[in-house]
Amino acid sequence: MMEQTARHIADSKSILIVSHANPDGDAVSSLIALGLGLEKLNKNVVLYNESLIPAVYRFLPSVDRISQDLHTEMHFDTVIVLDCGDPERIGSAVQTVLADRVVINIDHHVTNTGFGDIQFVDPEACATAELIHRLLMHLSVPIDTAIATAIYTGILTDTGSFRFSNTNLATFAICTEMVKKGVTPYNVAQCVYGTYSLERIKLLNLALDSIEISSNGKLSIMTVTREMLNMTGTQLDDADGLIHYARRIEDVKVAALIQELRNGNGPSGNQNRFHVSLRSDGTVDVATIAAAYGGGGHSSAAGFSIDATLSEVKSEIVVLAEKL
Ligand code: 5GP
Ligand code: MN
Repeated sequence: MMEQTARHIADSKSILIVSHANPDGDAVSSLIALGLGLEKLNKNVVLYNESLIPAVYRFLPSVDRISQDLHTEMHFDTVIVLDCGDPERIGSAVQTVLADRVVINIDHHVTNTGFGDIQFVDPEACATAELIHRLLMHLSVPIDTAIATAIYTGILTDTGSFRFSNTNLATFAICTEMVKKGVTPYNVAQCVYGTYSLERIKLLNLALDSIEISSNGKLSIMTVTREMLNMTGTQLDDADGLIHYARRIEDVKVAALIQELRNGNGPSGNQNRFHVSLRSDGTVDVATIAAAYGGGGHSSAAGFSIDATLSEVKSEIVVLAEKL
């Protein structure tokens, strides 16, 4: 829990902090907020993420401190894993990251497996950034504008701009505090939502056109293929947030976004691999559905990855509609 986490951090000198591959706003922001906060306690910190940081989050203060290199030559007493329901979310370096050091698991996913030596997991928290705020307060770390900007951005993005069901009193209370510390909500909103590349808008066009609705109208499926990325000159992270268009359709209870991670038609002979994002209107628990496929998440936002052909993935998902 939080007290144990704080005590262990106080006793650590060198701390590696990591969050999940293909990071969202909460994963990037929590990494920065905790890293900057622990530096104020004179800890040696290294921030690691397997993936390049998506363009829309590169405005965040000290974002360049996030390394794609694990610094294996350095010794760490402790590793803190952020926003990961299970350790595999870290990516291909998971074994190296977790080896020979105390592992602290800080997360807010209901499907969190409870991995690590110390857990600070609260599914009631709207974002991992909220837990970072609680922890920094407990450690008496002064919140400056840089840390406040990161915490605000993590909460803004994980609550879908205060629209999702995880939005609550604590959400607004913390955000009010962060604005008092110097955050300008308009500036953050402009950076996160107002700086889409033209290529990304073209991808939106193709993604909207791909939407299919189940015969009972309760399930929508959006598809983003490698070919669509190539045609528009976009990257996978440009598909971030597109699923909300599929979710907001009248009568739709569950939306699925199928993203092609790997096209198996190339010379490698590998199978196709897809990531499926699920969103619900709050009446359906999609975390359980995702967990059945080896994934996880929150009751109204979850995901999983699967090796199959596109038509196989679609037929797996379409049968879900019957039960809605
Ligand atoms: P998204 O669909 O946007 O990738 O993720 C939605 C939510 O589900 C996020 O909170 C994310 O962390 C979680 N999630 C997505 N994919 C996986 C997965 O493969 N495993 C687990 N445990 N959680 C996932
Ligand atoms: Mn999160």
